[in-house]
Amino acid sequence: MIEIAAQVVVFDLDDTLYLERDFAESGFRSLARHFGERIGGEGFAAECCERLAEGARGNIFDLALSRNGIEPAPELIAELVAHFRSHAPEIDFCEDASRFLSQMGQFQTGLITDGPMEAQAAKIRALGLGKRLDHVIMTGEWGKQYSKPHPRAFERIESLTAASKGGIVYIADNGKKDFIAPRQLGWQSVQILRPDRIHAGTPGGPEQAADHVISSFDELAIKPLTAQV
Ligand SMILES: [Mg+2]
Repeated sequence: MIEIAAQVVVFDLDDTLYLERDFAESGFRSLARHFGERIGGEGFAAECCERLAEGARGNIFDLALSRNGIEPAPELIAELVAHFRSHAPEIDFCEDASRFLSQMGQFQTGLITDGPMEAQAAKIRALGLGKRLDHVIMTGEWGKQYSKPHPRAFERIESLTAASKGGIVYIADNGKKDFIAPRQLGWQSVQILRPDRIHAGTPGGPEQAADHVISSFDELAIKPLTAQV
């Protein structure tokens, strides 16, 4: 069990609080319902799930259409991507994340998430995070250039919470980008590597690594940090 003390607990979204795979599969099913035989119906969703499981990223729709004998025209792909990002996802918290969130009563809480804003907003809505967390920041709202590791979102949390830097912890999964800014700012950091995550966790160099690594929130206990004077 990892035990830390903090005033503010900030979470990443994808593969931290819920499984990104669940969002993807929800999107594939929604596409099959909405576009039907134009894209190969249920066969399209099944193909997408298989390609995702095999490790395909960024070209899943093209691969699935081709396998169903349908030309992956750029206009069609654009329509599919737009629907995928804006669909109301059927997703839920990982059970350990749900238990952990219910213990956050004594802390200020926040979310910092990258990605297309429409999709991130749909996920946040589906999970009810706007009501569960004090500060929700989607870097996509500002533009891609402010994605992690850009420090803007982290500095925003600092100004919103007025906590001491060492009193803030960021819990996220991506060793390539998630921990660089919090490390530079003097935050604590915890990497959660879920067995079912969509990207293999790449441990980065020392400037990219989190202070602690867990595979489930059940391995982490946070107690309130009394403010230092
Ligand atoms: Mg993530």
